[in-house]
Amino acid sequence: MRPTGKLHLGHLVGALENWVALQHEFNNYHLIADYHALTTNLDTSAIYQNTIDMLIDWLASGLDPVGSPMFRQSQIKEHAELHLIFSMLITAARLERNPAVKEQVRDLNIESVSYGHLGYPVLQAADILLYKGELVPVGEDQVPHVEITREIARRFNNQYKSVFPEPEPKLTKFARLPGLDGMDKKMSKSGGNTILLSDSPGEIQKKMRTAVTDPLKIRKNDPGRPEICLVYTYHQKFNPGEAEQVATDCRSGALGCVECKKRVAVRIADTLAPFREKRAHYESHLEEVKDILTDGEERARTVARQTMAEVHEVMKLG
Ligand code: AMP
Repeated sequence: MRPTGKLHLGHLVGALENWVALQHEFNNYHLIADYHALTTNLDTSAIYQNTIDMLIDWLASGLDPVGSPMFRQSQIKEHAELHLIFSMLITAARLERNPAVKEQVRDLNIESVSYGHLGYPVLQAADILLYKGELVPVGEDQVPHVEITREIARRFNNQYKSVFPEPEPKLTKFARLPGLDGMDKKMSKSGGNTILLSDSPGEIQKKMRTAVTDPLKIRKNDPGRPEICLVYTYHQKFNPGEAEQVATDCRSGALGCVECKKRVAVRIADTLAPFREKRAHYESHLEEVKDILTDGEERARTVARQTMAEVHEVMKLG
């Protein structure tokens, strides 16, 4: 994940939930993609604080730093080195076809994409393959990048010797959570349409009031269409026990949008309650958070160095 600050519900349901679920079954590596943050924002004045904020969100969500290292890309030089080698194994034309970059260029009104931004899936391939990742738990938007990683791994293995696995993406059921401003918009920081994991119950209620619902349901008793409503998507995720009844009452006109939003906001706040408690602990124990980072970086560096030694060996470099 890029350190863009406090995490939102999209991060939780699209990726973080899987990280937590998989952490005891696999050797997880949790990368803070700080170089990647530069692709869309060159101002690094807040990057350290954003890193710490994100790390606290990870810890608060139940990730265990003892089992799974957490570390910054910029602190392990092997990421940059492997990126350089991989950048020779893919064409510029292939990267220009990448739908995720095209989407970002459109959404952020980028006039002319930088060399580093175009190549960020290549850096991502290095991030994954340095640790010989086999499963990449990401949201839907990242699937094209995992495909590029597979292509690069195959190319490297064919050209030199088989060093890398061909990883698979691992999606959650809600691999694309919509933002508060419409079903067609992904929840994202730049979209300004988020509910943060650290938001208080009051803030969640307030934000939920702004959520866009079915435009044809104007009055409280008008029949609605839950299938096109993002508030209903939130019910499915955070209020699964009552979601079916919510859909029936929305369709019949028995349930108005105001009440429907209030109910789901309460459920979201309940889901996040343990999270807020843990967050408060880490916020008042910042030294603990920094130690977790330093320790994670040391452990990740050891693995990264081993992989690079293998790469040098098969490439006859050094
Ligand atoms: P980013 O902040 O873009 O680096 O995203 C970090 C991870 O969260 C990636 O795996 C994304 O696919 C995932 N993610 C971010 N926003 C959403 C969303 N609205 N729905 C599902 N997954 C998301």
